[in-house]
Amino acid sequence: MKRCARCHQFLSLNSFYRQSAQPDGLTAYCKECWKTDCAQRHARKREGMVDKRRILMESVRHDYFSQIERPIQAYVLGLLASDGNVSDARPRIALSVHEKDKWLVEVARDELAPMRPITLARHRDYHMAKIALTSPQMVSDLAHFEIVPRKSATLRWPAALPQTLANSYLLGVYDGDGWITRDLRKPVPYFTAGIISASQGFLQAACAAIYEATGLEAPCLSPVNQRAFGIRYGGRRAETLLAWLHQDLPGLQRKRYPTLPAVGDTPTAAC
Ligand SMILES: [Zn+2]
Repeated sequence: MKRCARCHQFLSLNSFYRQSAQPDGLTAYCKECWKTDCAQRHARKREGMVDKRRILMESVRHDYFSQIERPIQAYVLGLLASDGNVSDARPRIALSVHEKDKWLVEVARDELAPMRPITLARHRDYHMAKIALTSPQMVSDLAHFEIVPRKSATLRWPAALPQTLANSYLLGVYDGDGWITRDLRKPVPYFTAGIISASQGFLQAACAAIYEATGLEAPCLSPVNQRAFGIRYGGRRAETLLAWLHQDLPGLQRKRYPTLPAVGDTPTAAC
């Protein structure tokens, strides 16, 4: 028995049509309600009325990742590499971040699916901002750039990404899974910036791309916890790294290299 979401009757399973996209493989409405609903939907369409669900579907830019040529595309790819999720049960892509960084989800939404609403969900003690969209084409294009299901520990650097976009891609990764902090024990402003990942291979490739572009020697990988590793750049190295990352896009405000205080200013904690 299953309850119809429209007429609210409990009916036998063969009163429902099959629909593989649903978790139980059946439509949410019973056959009778499904027919009525379809008829009404078509009638509205004939009258030229707007079908809200249709607009949401069509607003997805399914071919967004078929070619990556602009910094903002590489940036959104980097966000998906750090905080994105591709499901293998359905061709679905989701990006969720801490509510304080909701701006990141807004950027991705405006690029990938401008009409899509952003949802806020409670996760343990904090709120997450999230968008999700369904697109078989986007899922298959993303695989070409190493965004695949359950990627976190095995994430690889996207070899298909043009080298000139490496900084914007890595900026997306940094805005998702990076950090910047000020060392208050030092008398002059001294900042350290780093990136965290569960994939050692990815961090090594990131270091190589950074070295290639800036000449900064690779730091050692250090374990952050049982599952993740980190790379960090301090002082001048942080300044050089972030100048390169932010060369083409502004990125998240709170992770930018802070402007040094003018002479005579009282130093305050920037983070
Ligand atoms: Zn029904």
